[in-house]
Amino acid sequence: MFKHENSEKLRQRSENIILGGVNSPSRSYKAVGGGAPIVMDRAEGAYFYDVDGNKYIDFLSAYGPIITGHAHPHIHEAIVKQSARGILYGTTSPLEIEFAEKIQKAMPNLERIRFVNSGTEAVMTTIRVARAYTSRNKIIKFEGCYHGHSDLVLVAAGSGPSQLGTPDSAGVPQAVADDVITVPFNNLEALQAAFVHFKDEIAGVLVEPIVGNFGIVEPHAGFLEKVNEIAHTNGALVIYDEVITAFRFMYGGAQDLLNVQPDLTALGKIIGGGTPIGAYGGKKEIMESVAPLGPAYQAGTMAGNPLSMAAGIACLEVLEQDGVYEDLDKKGEMLVDGLNALIEKYGIKANINRKIGAFSIFFGEDEVTEYTGAENTDGEAFATFFNGLIKRGVMIAPSKYEAWFITTAHTYEDIEATLKIVEDVFKN
Ligand code: PMP
Repeated sequence: MFKHENSEKLRQRSENIILGGVNSPSRSYKAVGGGAPIVMDRAEGAYFYDVDGNKYIDFLSAYGPIITGHAHPHIHEAIVKQSARGILYGTTSPLEIEFAEKIQKAMPNLERIRFVNSGTEAVMTTIRVARAYTSRNKIIKFEGCYHGHSDLVLVAAGSGPSQLGTPDSAGVPQAVADDVITVPFNNLEALQAAFVHFKDEIAGVLVEPIVGNFGIVEPHAGFLEKVNEIAHTNGALVIYDEVITAFRFMYGGAQDLLNVQPDLTALGKIIGGGTPIGAYGGKKEIMESVAPLGPAYQAGTMAGNPLSMAAGIACLEVLEQDGVYEDLDKKGEMLVDGLNALIEKYGIKANINRKIGAFSIFFGEDEVTEYTGAENTDGEAFATFFNGLIKRGVMIAPSKYEAWFITTAHTYEDIEATLKIVEDVFKN
C-alpha cells in the first residue's frame, strides 16, 4: 500500500499559502474524505510519480486535455523549439493562423475563430457574442452542466422550466442569474416550455453535445437536432460547449461525430496540447459581431500566444494520425468490459457510460441517461473506491462526476494492471 507522507507534509505548507491548498477546488480531496491531495513530482506518458516516489497509472489526464499522455515527445519538442523563439509576442504570428486553419479543417463550422486562454473564457465569450448578435439577454443552459466559472454559467437549476436560476456561487448576483434559464438535459418539453415562457428574450441555448460533467451522458437520438430547430424557430442561437468533447471522441468535434451544427462553439482543453488555451468560433456573420469588426468586445494579452499555438498544432498532428481514435476506443472497450465484469463478480452497484476513450462510473442501481442531481451516483461508495485506487497506483479525479480519460500513451498492459488494482479494491 502506498504511503503519502511527503504529500501530507506538503499539505500543511500548501494550506498556509495557497488558499485551501489547491488552485482549483476540484483538486481538493474534501469530497472523498479529506485526505491530503497527492502532490505530483512529475508525469510521463501514462504515468504520474508523486513526491513519495509512488507511481500511478493516470486516468485523470488533467481533467481531459492530456489525450496524448504526459510529456509527449512531439509536443515537448514543439514547446522547446518555440520557447527559444519567444513565448509571447503580443502581435500576430503565423502560428496562430496555421493553428486556426488546422482547427477549421477539422471543424468546418468554425468559419471564424478566436483564441483565448481557457474554456471559461471561451464559453463566456460565446454567450456575449450570442447576446450581441441577437440583442437579447437570456441564456438557456442544461441542469448539472458545468461551463466554466464565469458568473452567468455558475447558476444552478430552477425547479421548473419556467423558473429562473439561482446563483450556484456566492458573489454571483441574482440579477445575473435572472438571465439564466435552466432545463433538464434531454428534455425537449422543458426546452420548448422555456421558449414559450420567455419567447423573445432568449439569446442562446448553451449545450454540451455530449455531456462530460455529470459523467458522460449522450444526447437522445434527435435531441440536438430538435434543440437547433426550437432555438432557431425562436430567433435564438445554439452554442456548443465542446471544451471537453472536441478531439476527444474523433478528430474534430462532437458536432461532426453527431452531424449537428451549432451557431457558435467553445473549445479548450485538448487543443492546447496541455498548455493553457481556449478558443471560440462559428458562423462568419455571427462572429463578425466581435471587435474589431463588431460591437462585442473580447481581448487577451496571452490570447494566441506562440507557445500554446505550437503545442496545440503538435497535439493535433499526433491526433490526426491514422488509427488514434480506433485505438482509444479499443482500450476504452477493454477497460470498461473488464470493469463491468468485476462489478458483476463482486456485486457492486455501479453502471458505466463510455464514449470511445472516456467513461464514467456511476455508483448506483440505475443506468444514467440524464442528470439526476446527487442521486446520480453514491458519494460514499465513490470515496471508498477512489481512496482504494490511490493507495494502489491508479489516479482518477477526486470527484464522483468526473470521467476517466484514456490516452494514446496507455498500453494494454496498463489496462490489465488497472483491472488488477480495481479487483483488489473491490475485494477489500
Ligand atoms: N466547459 C466544460 C464543458 C468544461 O468541462 C470546463 C472545464 N472542466 C470548462 C468549460 C471550463 O474550462 P477551463 O477550466 O479551461 O476554464
